[in-house]
Amino acid sequence: MSNFKLSTRSEMRMVGVHDELKKVVRRAIQLTSVDFAVIEGKRTRQRQAELFKQGATKTMNSRHLTGHAVDLAPMIDGQIPWADKSKFNAVAKAMFTAAAELNIKIRWGGDWNENGRSDDERFYDGPHFELTWRAYP
Ligand SMILES: [Zn+2]
Repeated sequence: MSNFKLSTRSEMRMVGVHDELKKVVRRAIQLTSVDFAVIEGKRTRQRQAELFKQGATKTMNSRHLTGHAVDLAPMIDGQIPWADKSKFNAVAKAMFTAAAELNIKIRWGGDWNENGRSDDERFYDGPHFELTWRAYP
């Protein structure tokens, strides 16, 4: 059991996110070996369009639009260690352990298991977690 706790800001960023996914995140913070923050939850169409234009996403059919996705970043001394995939792996491990415990089906942008359908799936997206299309259409 970790001593990490979701910050108020992280909770605020989960407003509008599907309850089942929130449950997984709240359980994962208790299990994780590395602290993490919610960097994004539900997205407006306008924000999705901006990200699309910037090339930061390849899809306009993102699960963020419906509150079925969250982006989580490991936090080391207040910084996100973008280059260190092992830290993202650690967050993913906690998320999958929490999801299994709660019997909630998720997948991760770090490996895109579960044959999904989004155009984003060829790209490594370490912070991204979403409820599966199959269990949560
Ligand atoms: Zn995402």
